[in-house]
Amino acid sequence: TRYVYRFGGGVDDGGKGDRNLLGGKGANLDGMAAIGLPVPPGFTITTEMCTRYYVDGGKYPESLNAEVASGIAHIEGITGKTFGNPADPLLVSVRSGARASMPGMMDTVLNLGLNDETVVGLAATSGDERFAWDSYRRFIQMYSDVVLELDHGAFEEALEIAKEDNGYSLDTEMTADDWKALVAEYKALVEKLWNKPFPQDVHDQLWGAISAVFGSWQSERAKVYRRLNNIPGEWGTAVNVQAMVFGNMGETSATGVAFTRDPATGENAYYGEYLINAQGEDVVAGIRTPQYLTKAARERAGAKPLSMEEAMPETYAELAGVFQILETHYRDMQDIEFTVQQGKLWMLQTRSGKRTAKAALKIAVDMAHEGLITEEEAVARVDPAALDQLLHPTLDPKAPRDVLTKGLPASPGAASGAIVFDADTAERRNELGDSVILVRVETSPEDIHGMHAAKGILTARGGMTSHAAVVARGMGRPCVSGAGGLSIDNAAKVLRVGGREFREGDIITIDGATGEVMAGEVPTVQPELAGDFGTLMIWADKVRRLKVRANAETPLDCQTARDFGAEGVGLCRTEHMFFDAARITAVREMILADSEKGRRLALDKLLPEQRDDFAQIFMVMAGLPVTIRLLDPPLHEFLPHGEAEFEEVAKAASVSVDMLKRRASELHEFNPMLGHRGCRLGVTYPEIYEMQARAIFEAALIVKQRSGDAPIPEVMIPLVATKKELELMKAIVDRVAAEVFAEQGASVDYLVGTMIELPRAALKAGEIAEVGEFFSFGTNDLTQTTIGISRDDAGRFLTQYVDKGIFARDPFVSIDVEGVGELIELAAERGRATRPGIKLGICGEHGGDPASIAFCEKTGLDYVSASPYRVPIARLAAAQAAL
Ligand code: PEP
Ligand code: MG
Repeated sequence: TRYVYRFGGGVDDGGKGDRNLLGGKGANLDGMAAIGLPVPPGFTITTEMCTRYYVDGGKYPESLNAEVASGIAHIEGITGKTFGNPADPLLVSVRSGARASMPGMMDTVLNLGLNDETVVGLAATSGDERFAWDSYRRFIQMYSDVVLELDHGAFEEALEIAKEDNGYSLDTEMTADDWKALVAEYKALVEKLWNKPFPQDVHDQLWGAISAVFGSWQSERAKVYRRLNNIPGEWGTAVNVQAMVFGNMGETSATGVAFTRDPATGENAYYGEYLINAQGEDVVAGIRTPQYLTKAARERAGAKPLSMEEAMPETYAELAGVFQILETHYRDMQDIEFTVQQGKLWMLQTRSGKRTAKAALKIAVDMAHEGLITEEEAVARVDPAALDQLLHPTLDPKAPRDVLTKGLPASPGAASGAIVFDADTAERRNELGDSVILVRVETSPEDIHGMHAAKGILTARGGMTSHAAVVARGMGRPCVSGAGGLSIDNAAKVLRVGGREFREGDIITIDGATGEVMAGEVPTVQPELAGDFGTLMIWADKVRRLKVRANAETPLDCQTARDFGAEGVGLCRTEHMFFDAARITAVREMILADSEKGRRLALDKLLPEQRDDFAQIFMVMAGLPVTIRLLDPPLHEFLPHGEAEFEEVAKAASVSVDMLKRRASELHEFNPMLGHRGCRLGVTYPEIYEMQARAIFEAALIVKQRSGDAPIPEVMIPLVATKKELELMKAIVDRVAAEVFAEQGASVDYLVGTMIELPRAALKAGEIAEVGEFFSFGTNDLTQTTIGISRDDAGRFLTQYVDKGIFARDPFVSIDVEGVGELIELAAERGRATRPGIKLGICGEHGGDPASIAFCEKTGLDYVSASPYRVPIARLAAAQAAL
């Protein structure tokens, strides 16, 4: 096997540049050499060598010696210098370079090849003694840090003391003799800390650096980084050895970093920084303040020091030409490192540049318009999850933040407002025009009005699919959940965090994209859903197969969803309508009634309200399917909890407090999520589902008559486990439909289907499809019941499960493809076998998660349904899944 690939001076052994073999940096150095760009000659030791190095227990094969020697000979041949030659020494840089860029790894050793003898040669050939000794001390410092892993603080301290002793404030004031003296000190430091003298043999230096690069692949830092970024340990890193070029050889030399487009805004303008008479790490380390690359950027910033465009116009023009070539060649925005050595430009690195969501969008659309990439490639290049950043107001990145604690980033967007501890106060203050943040230990359905009134929601408990998180995402409200650092005293209305106290009315800010909770108000910036966004969405829609619907239950949410491109409602959770202040009394009357007759009386009051809800939603969604789920949550959720509330509610319902409490305790359940809920309510109180069915069909006929555009109601039965349950429920719906149609002398098409959210339902899908006309996978409950982890309590331990690698990701966020996914595949297959073409969708939170959407595409579902603000994300993710 060949392990060494040369590049530069007309040679490019790597050919097209295989990233897997040569690593990202090596492949692109080779690639730049291949298209004739000025790359200092060098060679890459492959990632395969790294893997073999570990397999062989930290040893190299015999053959590598000769290969490395031939690599060095290649560099010597082109530069005319010789490695270790005291008269005219070759100096090299040694850098790591994995397939994906990995900040956790050893990065760079510069000036390798310097020793007590060659430093003299460097001084002679460069005619600059100060430069030579400065280079030598930099080399010892870097080598000691990254290869010998000695305490770099000691070296920095020695430099500081040397400057102080001489009365200097800047490195540039150090003379050749000062550097010489410092080199002696550095060497003494190495002996003291390493118990061996600094290596003088240049080959020892080289092999030391190579082994350090390979060794860094298994460093703790690198392992952590790999885990966080899903980079497999088998990949290994390459090593790049390259002739040194110097940006610190006087005023005609410089070094810099640049982006071919603005990585923050995406603007098609060069963006970068450079420093005259400096070496690369000076720019990165921020020792001197770098100068602007372009005149326009300098002027915009009102900065004085000349830009490179002004200070070195010819080299700048050459560099700009290289930018063009690189963008055309790699067909993406590039992040570049370069050096100018005495007027001559050298390219040290190029790679696809990291960018903000906004920039990613603009660059992708611009490049497609420029003809550099296709529309499909543009679609593939924007991370759907990053769109989130664009759809909600975000915190001004320039504003200072007083961070109090961190919770889960449950619903993106940022919000500031006055702290309130209960939903009623939230509503009241909102009506007075205040911005409020609702702070709760956890939220429950009865907080809905307060959540709606609040600008943001903060909870001390609960995971990513806790009530607060789900509802907040649905409403597009920013939410931080499970902020365990908070201690909330509801009685005293005090919030304690990190030794500080906040009271009702104190202003805080939450960032639902990061989970940060901050004191005071942090300014936000509004999203711009400008042209690029719309353009990319149109391109995405051209390639996607999956339909995208929305989980929405108010006309406003439906409108938002439709504006974002939803093609129907995939889940309308009717219970949320029951919490409305005007109806909750009737809902409670129904629950408190001890006879069917009493329940029917209360339901009669609810009927016109529900009918009105549905009519409004049908109007907004005219011409599109709307899936309405009949009542799902256990009834106790509608009853009061606190003492004060009991009295209030008892009065409103004209019953005694005792009776109310008795009923509440009767309804109490140990496992409400596995209790009296879903279609079990319909089985025991069929009149509830009857009322809802009637409201749906009456509303549908109203809208048909009013708009001429008949809605397509899809009545959905929740939490079905058996065919018989669905049969009973469908019979109710069909009977009511027939009644309403007969009464009105008109009809609409409708479907009756079920959620598949219990493992038994998935297993028996073949049988259930004999009755159900569509399936919608309720992956929240299906995840909860398949894994047996409570969706409301999981937040407390799930992070550890992810940290320890038991789950790759929170299964309530991204579908557990192997477990829950298998049930879905099986149910889809069995359902289709019974009823070919049965409509299949997903309406759990996963419907808005790109990885889960890819799974849905693979499984051949017909649609995904996501909260309104995730609709664009789902559209893009569905398109990418189809590519
Ligand atoms: C589900 O269980 O996935 C679902 C969509 O229903 P809910 O979240 O309302 O239980
Ligand atoms: Mg459910």
